[in-house]
Amino acid sequence: MKSDCIIDKIKNKDLRVIADKVARGIPVSEADALSMLGTNDILELGLIAHAVRTRLHGDIAYYEVNMNLNYTNVCELRCPLCAFSRSEGDAGAFTLSLDEIEGKVRQADFFGIDEVHIVGGLNPKLKIEHFEEMLRRIKSVNPDIFIVAFTAVEYDYFAGINNLSLEEVFVRMKNAGLGALPGGGAEIFSPKLREMIAPRKISGKRWLEVMRIAHSLGLKTNATLLYNHLETPEDIVDHLSQIRSLQEETGGFKTFVPLPYHDTHTDIRAKRPQTTGFGDVRLFAASRIFLHNVPHLKSLWMYLGDKMAQLLLSFGVDDLGGTYHYEKVVHSAGATTSDAGSESHLRRLIEFSGLKAVRAAANYEMRYRQ
Ligand code: SF4
Repeated sequence: MKSDCIIDKIKNKDLRVIADKVARGIPVSEADALSMLGTNDILELGLIAHAVRTRLHGDIAYYEVNMNLNYTNVCELRCPLCAFSRSEGDAGAFTLSLDEIEGKVRQADFFGIDEVHIVGGLNPKLKIEHFEEMLRRIKSVNPDIFIVAFTAVEYDYFAGINNLSLEEVFVRMKNAGLGALPGGGAEIFSPKLREMIAPRKISGKRWLEVMRIAHSLGLKTNATLLYNHLETPEDIVDHLSQIRSLQEETGGFKTFVPLPYHDTHTDIRAKRPQTTGFGDVRLFAASRIFLHNVPHLKSLWMYLGDKMAQLLLSFGVDDLGGTYHYEKVVHSAGATTSDAGSESHLRRLIEFSGLKAVRAAANYEMRYRQ
């Protein structure tokens, strides 16, 4: 549906103003974002978000066939928000050897994957050569595997403990096979909230700086938002706004990924119960409309549940996430979804929403099956 055709269908006064801006290609304001996050007219909000999504992607929705690689859960930071990390020597602490990593990738490749998605803790024993070798070994299994690896938090740490500039780290990783960056570690940029949920993690400002450097070297990245913990709608709008501003400058963000917080086994027992359907819909639709310059919006089924992730395909989302075999981070924090989606199920979710399912890697360029 064209955005200029929907204005007549929208009765809500504030949403009508927003629809009019969208139709005329004018970025919506922070005040508009706040009003979208508070509206109960989710069907009208969805009409606008779906129009933006359709303008960008037509009737296509993407999914990935990938594996998740969490190479260590040993982490120096031990953020209160995290259920995944352990200290060295703790029960359950692990660090995979390069042989184990290669074995896992080889096994997954045997069944057919397009992409490996790698994140882990900040483990002082692992130096830059280890990560270069990790990427090279993955490429040696199958050079066509696309590697999405390490958050901005990990890159900042690699630079620090190896006495290298971020530029040097990125160039070395690219030479070893890195394809793109995931968007983790952004959490919420508010300094006050970061102090409560992840006091030792890099600041939001530094997270954006790391991404700016990655983008300047031609690396595309995701950006995440962790929501439903202690944040206010104003904190969410501030977060979206900073992503939109950096995107104006670099154009390096390809996908925005909102992540509902799971608090089981963490040190932040958020006072909030899990998200509501209206809450998720408002957040995703508002993000789609506000982040007009970020091309993709992903609803990760393993965080949201497959039914909600599917529903969001009508509220701005164009990417359902991947199969993610072996995912450990959100499952450590109590996610009750399976740790591996099947390709046929992801296709079914997309096709039952009336869209065309396209299998792609994280750069959206490599398309495999339509
Ligand atoms: S959230 Fe990341 S940086 Fe913080 S403790 Fe967990 S693994 Fe470490």
